[in-house]
Amino acid sequence: MNTIPATAADPWRMNADLHSHSSWSDGVLAPAELVRRAHAAGVELFALTDHDETGGVAEAAAEAARLDMSFVPGVEISVTWAGKTLHVVGLDIDTRHPGLVAGLASIRAGRDERAREMAERLERLGVSGAYEGAIAQVRNPSLVSRTHFARHLVSSGVCSHMDEVFSRFLGEGAPAYVPHQWARLTDALGWIRDSGGVAVLAHPGRYRLDGMMRDTLIDEFRAGGGQAIEVVTGSHTRDQYRQYARVALDAGLYGSRGSDFHGPGESRVDLGDLPHLPDGVEPVWPHLSVLSAPVGA
Ligand code: AMP
Ligand code: MN
Ligand code: MN
Ligand code: MN
Repeated sequence: MNTIPATAADPWRMNADLHSHSSWSDGVLAPAELVRRAHAAGVELFALTDHDETGGVAEAAAEAARLDMSFVPGVEISVTWAGKTLHVVGLDIDTRHPGLVAGLASIRAGRDERAREMAERLERLGVSGAYEGAIAQVRNPSLVSRTHFARHLVSSGVCSHMDEVFSRFLGEGAPAYVPHQWARLTDALGWIRDSGGVAVLAHPGRYRLDGMMRDTLIDEFRAGGGQAIEVVTGSHTRDQYRQYARVALDAGLYGSRGSDFHGPGESRVDLGDLPHLPDGVEPVWPHLSVLSAPVGA
């Protein structure tokens, strides 16, 4: 059974990392390896949040229990909203909830076809064998992602780093980018809520929305039951920590903190290696069942 860390008395100071990826989606490490790395890095509360997939949660939970580290079952759901791709993290979800299970399966279903289409576009741009190369990087065949293509294009020498793959080929608007219809925001929020979870808007600073669209998104997110936004994330700059602290305060949302770690040497921020939430932002994690359960229960 997980114990409550000493810093739970001052949750604001706790090393909570509530956003990470394993090889069940586009992370490099197996769930147990990821959990061991988080524990070694001093993380006290850890969530596995694979894209559209919860297959790694049981292994991660077992390893966290063995290490006596508090663990939160999570997922990062791909959403299409106003023609843009957004990510919504669900924390404290019941991974067996039928609505969530069916919803996630429905989003995963289109990935293989999209991958073949990306490979065709790459072929036309003079890069052959990208589908096979990407698949060779994948451990969970239902979750081939742009990250796997990017790893392949780097390891085969077509690009020198992952950023270059996205700017030259696979980023939104680049020539091999294939638009895809992910979940509707209201559906994703519904699956999270119905499975007992807390919805967190992931890395809001990445969406390139103007002020009005951002306000509309936050309104719809709250109306659908969303409760938190990532303020301190590996995807934000220091200025964005301050900017989204303000958004959280103005909108009455809790703040979350997570590295969005994908792999050693690949992610800009390692597990747990982030500043605390800015003053005034109320952390989401005291509201998760692992911390709010009575001591000894
Ligand atoms: P997909 O879900 O297949 O569209 O893939 C999206 C994933 O690509 C994200 O979850 C990130 O892990 C990765 N990604 C997006 N943009 C970049 C970038 N500029 N550099 C590295 N990885 C990226
Ligand atoms: Mn990813
Ligand atoms: Mn994301
Ligand atoms: Mn992520």
